[in-house]
Parts: sequence; C-alpha cells; structure tokens
Amino acid sequence: MMQTEKFDNIVILALISLTFVVIGLHSFSLNKTFTLDTKSPYRTFAISDTANGGKSKASLHTKGNKYLLDCHIIESDYAWPFCEITFSIGVDAHNMPSQPIDLSSYSTAHVYAKYIGENKASFRFQVRSYNQNYSLPNDDSTWKYNGIEYWPRKNQYPVDIPLNAMQVATWWLWEKEIPIEYAGPEFDQVLVVEVATGNSISPGHYQIEIDKVEFTGKVFTNKQVFTFIIAMWVFTAIIGLIMNLYRSKAKLKNAEQRAFELKQLNRLLNVESQELKDLAERDPLTGALNRKGIEHIFTNEIKVMSLMFIDIDHFKPLNDRYGHNIGDIILKDFVKLISENCRTSDFLARWGGEEFLLICPNTKVLEANELAEDLRQLIAEHNFVQNIKLTASFGLAQKENETIAELIERADVALYTAKAQGRNKVIVSNNVDLL
Ligand code: GH3
Ligand code: MG
Ligand code: MG
Repeated sequence: MMQTEKFDNIVILALISLTFVVIGLHSFSLNKTFTLDTKSPYRTFAISDTANGGKSKASLHTKGNKYLLDCHIIESDYAWPFCEITFSIGVDAHNMPSQPIDLSSYSTAHVYAKYIGENKASFRFQVRSYNQNYSLPNDDSTWKYNGIEYWPRKNQYPVDIPLNAMQVATWWLWEKEIPIEYAGPEFDQVLVVEVATGNSISPGHYQIEIDKVEFTGKVFTNKQVFTFIIAMWVFTAIIGLIMNLYRSKAKLKNAEQRAFELKQLNRLLNVESQELKDLAERDPLTGALNRKGIEHIFTNEIKVMSLMFIDIDHFKPLNDRYGHNIGDIILKDFVKLISENCRTSDFLARWGGEEFLLICPNTKVLEANELAEDLRQLIAEHNFVQNIKLTASFGLAQKENETIAELIERADVALYTAKAQGRNKVIVSNNVDLL
C-alpha cells in the first residue's frame, strides 16, 4: 500500500516536472528560423514597374553580406510605380513553381530593410503563395498577394511583422474573383517573398539596404504542445487507472482467499470446540452424558420432568466372571440399547459405574413408568456380548416443588426399593399420586 502510494506520487511529480520542462522548452527554445539573405540559395533579383508598362529602374547589388536595391522611380502612365527585391524561394529559373515552402508554422517576419539615401518612403512586404484551387503555374499574377504596407518608425530595425497582421490585396481578390473561402492569407505554399517600395511613392532616387528577411516561429504550435501535455496526463491517468484496477482485483482476490481460509479455520475451531465440549460433557467410555453434561438441563426451568435411575443388577459378579473388558463392552452396549429406545427429547447420563440417569423432560411419571417398563423388558431380553443376559432396576420420580438433589434422592430411594424387592423392577417414588 505504502509502496504503491509512493510510486503514484513519483509518477505525478514526474508528470508535473515534464509539463514544466515541455512548456519551458516550448516558450524559451525550440524556435525555428527561415532566413533570406545574401547567403541563402534562392534566386534573388530586382524588378520595377517596367513589366507593367512603367519606366522606373531597379538594380540589385551586394554590399558585403547585404543587398542594396538601387531604385529610380520615374513617372509614367503606369499609376503605381515601384522597385522591388524578389526572393524566389519556391520557383525555378523559368519562374515556374518547383518547391513551394511551407511558412504557415512561422509566426513573425523580421524585415531588415531601410532607406539609406536622402529619400525615404514606405515599404510593402509581400509573401506570394500558391493554391491549385485558384493559381496557375505559368501565370504569376494568380499567386496570392499576402501583404502589408508600413512606414518604419525611427530606429525601428528590423520591423517585426506578425504573419497574422498580413492581408490579401483586395484589388487582387476582386480581379481574380477569388471565392470567399480562399480570401484569407495563406502561407503553406510560398513561392516568392518580396520587399518593395510602398504606395504612391514620389519620383526620385531611392536606395534601400536589405540585410535579410527572417521568418521565426516555434518548432511546435501552442496547440500541439498543449495537446501533447493533455495527452500525456490523460494517458498516464488511464494507465494508472488500469493498474489500480488490477491492484484492487488482486487485493480482492487476496481478501477472498483470506476470508476463505478464516472460514476454514473457524470451521475447524468449531469442530474442535465441539469436540472439547463433548470431552467435557460426555463419558468417554459409553458416550452418554456425564454429570456436567446434564447440568444445563437442570438449570432450565422445565415445569414437568421425570427422572429415572437405572442400575444394572449384579454387575460386579459379571465383571468378576468375564473380566473388566467385557464389562466395559456391556456398559457401552447397555447405553446404546437405552439410547435407541428412549425418546430423542430424553437425556441419558452415566451417574456412576453402572448407574445411569434418564431425564425425561415434559414427561409425567406415569408416562415415564411405561417407558421404564419397556426398557426393563428390552434389557432383560437383550443378548449382550457373549450372549450374556442381565437385568436392571429402575427408580422413578417426578419433579415436584423440590430441589434437583431432593428429586434425585427420591429416585435413588425408589431404585433402592426396586433392588430390595428383588431387582429387575420399576419402582416409582411414592410422593406422586400415580392416578
Ligand atoms: P447390585 O447393583 O445388583 O446390587 O449389584 P452390583 O454388583 O451391580 O453392585 P455394585 O453397585 O456394588 O457393583 C458395581 C460394580 O460395577 C463394581 C464394579 O466392578 C463395576 N464397575 C463400575 N464401573 C465399571 C466400569 O467402568 N467398568 C467395568 N467393567 N466395571 C465397572
Ligand atoms: Mg448394580
Ligand atoms: Mg451400582
């Protein structure tokens, strides 16, 4: 019991520790980064509005490990002049989608770009994504414009852009008639990342230094981490419950086994105590009750009761002639004969050597007299061991307003009278009016 409780505590402590470790790891490390800079393997180039019929000029240079976008915004018929640095991360040399990159698990884009010349303007940051439901591989205008326009504040470098702050360009949604279910930003199949000059830029010469664009995120999402933690607790709880079930089943089995053993032991003790009781209350030779064995009958308040003293006639000569062993066998036989021929409600006790007391509860002496006569005849007719014949004398008394000792005394006197009158006789104590 103590052992398993200790084990449970250890498991719970381990779970709590593991939960903290997981949350800590998730919060303070397990970050991932996707970097676009001069060292990244993607094709990076400058474009301007010339593709749209404009006249602006853009060129890209590297300065150390930074890019420098040199931009001349020139007025033309095209209303939205711009310069732009393009990172082709998911397209091949022919501008066809080849290996779209999944940035959906990143949370923030850090844009390290600043105007370094005289002229300053706003920025447009765009992530172009592909979706076969509305995109065509050979038409880059069908690639979604996930973007944001911003003015960097003074000394704000880099500018950290939460990806969920980006929006899909509404003109593009309108122009491509994008169904509403695809109207939101998507970052799972990114082809191109763009940093461009912002809206309504004035004509002039602009220089933009781009150190890098960095996407950061957590290796695991909050949802994954908390799902993992909950799963871990639930799983452990289930295992614990199953183990507990098995434990209590085993315990129950043990308890049942013990109960069974105790029951067996109890039965054994009962048998033993019965044997002890018999030993204390029965005469070992004949199996008849002894004096102690009839005590409880006398203490019982039996209203009507008759008592029968039975003494074998001339037993001593039999003993002398056939020996003590034969005498014993005769005594046993004698008890058996009387027991089998009295009523189950009667109690037979060995009072002394070859003297017996038959107690007949709820029996008037008249009735007891009949029983005694029957027994006397049976004894006289019975063939004992070695065909030995014998008789017995009976002294009867019915309980009156007297003590047990007085009752026994009267029966004894009656027996004495039977002996005196020649034995093999039933004599009733004269106190009682037989009629
Ligand atoms: P009666 O009663 O007719 O006057 O003559 P009795 O010979 O039966 O007289 P008594 O009561 O004097 O004799 C009892 C004899 O019973 C004495 C003894 O040898 C014998 N006896 C007593 N207890 C036992 C016993 O446990 N085993 C055997 N074999 N004999 C016993
Ligand atoms: Mg006798
Ligand atoms: Mg005697």
